[in-house]
Amino acid sequence: MSSLGKSEAMASKLASTSDGARAANSESARHRRTASRAASIAGDLRGRGRRRRSTETLDSGSFALARTDGAVADAASLLASRIRAHMAAGHLDVTLTDNRYTMLSVRRDGECNESRTGPQYRVRLHHMFADATPRVTQALAHYIGKDDKEASKVLGDFIDANQHRVRAKSSRKTSKLVTKGACHDLQDIFDGLNDQYFDGTIDATITWGQKCGKAQRRNSIKMGSYSIEDRSIRIHRSLDKAYVPRFFVEWIVYHEMLHQVHDAPVVNGRRQFHSKAFLEDEAAFEHYALARLWERDHLEQLLTY
Ligand SMILES: [Zn+2]
Repeated sequence: MSSLGKSEAMASKLASTSDGARAANSESARHRRTASRAASIAGDLRGRGRRRRSTETLDSGSFALARTDGAVADAASLLASRIRAHMAAGHLDVTLTDNRYTMLSVRRDGECNESRTGPQYRVRLHHMFADATPRVTQALAHYIGKDDKEASKVLGDFIDANQHRVRAKSSRKTSKLVTKGACHDLQDIFDGLNDQYFDGTIDATITWGQKCGKAQRRNSIKMGSYSIEDRSIRIHRSLDKAYVPRFFVEWIVYHEMLHQVHDAPVVNGRRQFHSKAFLEDEAAFEHYALARLWERDHLEQLLTY
């Protein structure tokens, strides 16, 4: 569990002014610029995966073939060569995933400085594509290379027809997940961040917390929390307000997602949930400075819920 409050804000502020943090920041800023392009390309195919609260049983059969790393790598390079056969130019790198929400994402590198080898495409595909028909692999090529509308439709239909191959959620608490709020869609925010910062590797559920009662001034607010056992993120309902900008909700969600990536080392007998490495990663958020500033300027409003 974690909470974001004033004390945490101070800790991050300190971390972000150290030299190490700044170096990490610019490195990831470069990475991010490429990644955000990828996010927009994959936009219309994102969220085609299994919807939350699925009650279907685990379909282990379809993924059994690709269980070992070697088999996955073979299947990926085979698929890459089948896609490349339909492409005019460029270097293609395919990774197969078992993601539940992102079926396809494309990262295009080297678009700004056209190198002699042409653009580089780094593609992450759900393993359902491993044995796709030539029609689908051709559509993949057109989608990757030209962002082709028609190809996008073929792929969308293929993904829809292969829903049964998307891994069902394992036995987690069956409490109802509410992702669409009145002002902010948490699933959309989560998926965008997952693409942009984590290569789609974060596997967690997300939900708004309970509805707030009559608003009153409080001393603290736990804006987000992450449960390691359930792999679930919960965001305070009071952030689902028109005055709260999307980048701020994104920042809170991003923070909770980082908890899945970072260990919590024990320091002086206490578990440190926000290690130095964690805070450095946190500072790499695109709107980090803006979010901190916004939080400071709206603390009174945030504490009234
Ligand atoms: Zn935290």
